[in-house]
Parts: sequence; structure tokens; C-alpha cells
Amino acid sequence: MKEAEVIIVGAGPAGVACAVQLKRTSFDVLVIEKRRVGGRAWQAGAVENLAGWTSLPGEQIAAQMNDQLAHWKIPVEFAEVTKVTGDRGTGILPVENHGRDVRATRYILHAEDGPAFESKVVVIATGVTPKVPEVAPPLDPDARRVYYNVLDIPYCENKRIGIIGSGDVAFDYALSVCDRHNVTILVRSERLSAIPLLIERAESKPGIEILRNHASNRIEPFAEKVEVEIAQTGKTLTFDYLVIAIGSEASLPLIEGIDRIPGDELRLAPSLYVIGDAAHIGFRQISIAMGDGLRVAMTITENRTRHG
Ligand SMILES: Cc1cc2nc3c(=O)[nH]c(=O)nc-3n(C[C@H](O)[C@H](O)[C@H](O)COP(=O)(O)OP(=O)(O)OC[C@H]3O[C@@H](n4cnc5c(N)ncnc54)[C@H](O)[C@@H]3O)c2cc1C
Repeated sequence: MKEAEVIIVGAGPAGVACAVQLKRTSFDVLVIEKRRVGGRAWQAGAVENLAGWTSLPGEQIAAQMNDQLAHWKIPVEFAEVTKVTGDRGTGILPVENHGRDVRATRYILHAEDGPAFESKVVVIATGVTPKVPEVAPPLDPDARRVYYNVLDIPYCENKRIGIIGSGDVAFDYALSVCDRHNVTILVRSERLSAIPLLIERAESKPGIEILRNHASNRIEPFAEKVEVEIAQTGKTLTFDYLVIAIGSEASLPLIEGIDRIPGDELRLAPSLYVIGDAAHIGFRQISIAMGDGLRVAMTITENRTRHG
């Protein structure tokens, strides 16, 4: 089993900020990432709300996180953490008050093949997983034609892309592919929930059509196309690819004995933290995730100074 003084699960903005700050204060840190360093920052088109930068492509922020981990010689293990348990046989004790009475002194992190990592301090920065509408096929990383991340569409041009959703992510996705494709945003009601700036930009693009009152009744992928049946009209629309962006929920490994992550509470148990998008509903932004990472890193450093 691999050990480190602090293990951080997830290498998005939250996990990377936390890892770098801990390394700067001489901690032995290990980052575990299931897919790609940079997290959801890869998917952001233009990031305009990072203080100090007028506009930065999300992929640049994500790529720089990779360089930053390499610069600080922070090791990254590529694995999916499926479960976190305590080391005392009884595991993490189920308690009423959000796990404050937890007894574990060391945490075991399980991957696909069983227990794989061990640490006294664990930071979970695993972000979110997309919501899947009831009428869509189940989430499948090998799925073709129906995606939850615009970057998963194979590189191509002049295709018909349908995007289901009305929020910032749906509009950001549309804006990032509309120069290469014809995009239709399907909005289930009259109301758009993206910020007005993104809506105005989308409305001004000839490659984007916004269809309000177009709820999906049926989503069916075929070898060459995907069909979406519209509830209000009964008509079927056909796309080459469909991207679903109807929201997301915390993506957490199973934490033994704790079945609920209290919103905005960064510390779950002694030395077990959840940070970034995984910890927040409604405050899912890069700067907030990075701020969480720094705050928890500073808390861990302070605890070491106090308690050794
Ligand atoms: C289209 C789009 C546009 C956006 N635009 C902006 C913007 O303009 N400004 C802004 O501030 N924010 C924006 N965001 C939001 C921003 O990307 C997120 O708030 C930020 O990335 C959250 O960081 P995080 O580290 O908490 O989570 P994430 O970035 O989601 O990183 C989590 C990491 O954990 C990994 N992981 C998950 N589960 C496991 C596991 N079990 N084991 C190991 N690894 C795991 C994932 O692979 C991922 O790399 C945008 C997001 C999207 C999708």
C-alpha cells in the first residue's frame, strides 16, 4: 500500500491548490486522479472571473496545473478511489453529528483492486458528476453520440450538435463549438438560467439556435445519429451528437459511516476534508475551489504546528 502524510483525491483546481500549498510547507503529499490533471477546468471555454486575468481559456488553466504539480515534484497516481475507510476494524463510526466523533487515526483509500493507499490526513476534491435525465441512456464513458462533456465529442466539423440545458455550462459548451458546428440549445421551459452575458453572446452567434419550451421526452442514440423527441410538440429532432448539461451533483467516493456531506462544511471528521465543487451546491467556481484548497492546506499546517 502506498503511503503519504496527506493524500488528496482529485487533481482539479481544489486538489491542486491544496497540494501545492502543502508541498510549500514541506508536507509529503500524494495526489490521486482518476482521469486527467486539471479537472473540469478543461471544459471551460473562456474563464473571465479569475482575478488578475481578463480572459483565460480553461484548457490553459488546466494544462498549467499539470506543469505546476511537476514543478513542485508532487507525485500523481492515476486511479479511481472508490471507498475511504478507517483503520481500526470498526472503520469510521457512524455518528449523528456529521462524523465529528470519528475514531479513525489512519484512512485507507480503496481503488478498483482493493485497499491501495494509506494516510493520516485525506482531502477529497473529487468535483461533480453530471445529472442524467430519466429519458437518457445511463452514464457510460464509452457511450457514442450522447455526451455530458463537450470535449468528448470526437474532433469533426459542420455537424449538428444538440445541447440540452439552460445554464452557464450549456451556453459555455454552445459557444465553444459554434464556430465549427451548427448548435441547437434545447431549453425545457421559457426560462434560461445562464447569466445574461452568455445568453447575449449565444444569441448573437449565427451558429447557435435556442429553442425554448423544448423538453425532451425521449433520447435515443443510433449508429449515425441521435434522436430527441420533444414533449411539447411530439416532433423528433435529429442531431449528429447530443450533449446533456442539466446540472451536476457531488461525485464522492463511498466514505464509510458517513452518508451525507453537509453543504459548505469543509471538515467531515478529524483529518478528513471535502473541498471544491464536491462540497458546495451553487458555488461551483474555480477561484472558490482553489480557495478551499488553500484554506484546508493552511488548516492542516496549523494542526501540525499545534499537535505535531
Ligand atoms: C463548461 C464549464 C465552464 C466553466 N466556466 C467556469 C468559469 O468561467 N469560471 C469558473 O470559475 N469556473 C468555471 N467552471 C467551473 C469550474 O471548472 C469548477 O468549479 C472547478 O473545476 C471545480 O474544481 P474542483 O477541483 O472542485 O473539481 P473538478 O475540477 O471537477 O476536479 C475534480 C477532479 O477529481 C477527479 N476525480 C473525481 N472522482 C475521483 C475519484 N473517485 N478518484 C480519483 N479522482 C477523482 C476528477 O477526474 C477531476 O479531475 C466551468 C465548468 C464547466 C463545466
